[in-house]
Amino acid sequence: MSELYDVMILGGGPAGLTAGLYAGRSRLKTLLIEKGAPGGQIALSADVENYPGQLLEGETGVSLAGRMAEQCARFGVERRTDEIRQAELKGGVKRLVGGGGEYLARTIIIASGASPRPIGCENEKEFTGRGISYCATCDGAFFRGLEVYVAGGGDSAVEEALFLTRFARKVTIIHRRDALRAAKSIQERAFANPKIAFLWDSVVVRADGDDVLSALTVKNVKTGALTEIRASREDGMLGLFGFVGHLPSTELFREQLPLENGYILTDEDMRTAIPGVFAAGDVRVKSLRQVVTAAADGAIAAVQAERYLAEQ
Ligand code: NAP
Repeated sequence: MSELYDVMILGGGPAGLTAGLYAGRSRLKTLLIEKGAPGGQIALSADVENYPGQLLEGETGVSLAGRMAEQCARFGVERRTDEIRQAELKGGVKRLVGGGGEYLARTIIIASGASPRPIGCENEKEFTGRGISYCATCDGAFFRGLEVYVAGGGDSAVEEALFLTRFARKVTIIHRRDALRAAKSIQERAFANPKIAFLWDSVVVRADGDDVLSALTVKNVKTGALTEIRASREDGMLGLFGFVGHLPSTELFREQLPLENGYILTDEDMRTAIPGVFAAGDVRVKSLRQVVTAAADGAIAAVQAERYLAEQ
């Protein structure tokens, strides 16, 4: 029989790690399961400048998440690396099953976050890892001296475009409208950066190349005109980074929990429709998806899990 935990946390981003910190400090027997390295979405971020008190020079998503994980471990939170394939949420004991076996707990905090939404162009899968990427921090350095294109107009697209200027010769933001969605302060930095250009009212419809990405077809959504962008002969390739939003990681729960546009519905105490099941961070329906709100959700979820356990 598998060990029974008080709290099981699915996901090691800021929401899950903060839930772990609070559950651990409450001396609850806590297990955190994450399929990769800690950090979730912020592990893909080169720069975290809006987490309160974060003024450390050179702080990255990875370094911030690393300290959060260390803080969790200090309070006795156990960690497993596993990819969960099955979830049973009803009843007094919640069960998750992954490649490493089954995990049982009296409460569960779902903090599985979200993953990058595909750009939606033809041949996208074929060129992923061969010119198309969704992580500037991971892959930006491969495009040193080359031309790079960024699809999207939100905070991620514009912040990551700025980061990519450290490596690329030129970065062009391709946005489907004629105005950015990103925060004004981020926009100002992009407009002032001589390496950043904009292609408005446009979407990428096709990726091409022999072995690596060397051409993009872009469609003007107002006129319908198609334009082919080709890498120069000397460059031989170009980069395309996709930052067109996210898809919530909720496939496991689709049949068990009420969702809205794929995101889990909770009350303000992070309770879902099933007693003992909480959701925190980007995976739930909310108006602001930031590290600070994910961390706050995690803290609330852990405190509510503790209350639920005390009432049982
Ligand atoms: P987002 O805010 O949802 O923006 C997605 C962008 O992609 C939008 O500009 C959208 O265009 C565009 N888009 C969506 N679907 C598209 C498609 N099929 N084809 C072309 N373009 C498409 O996503 P995000 O930038 O990843 O940010 C997610 C959340 O994290 C947000 O709440 C954001 O504030 C937060 N975040 C914060 C920071 C920070 O504070 N430093 C950094 C990164 C992310 P439209 O504008 O036309 O809808």
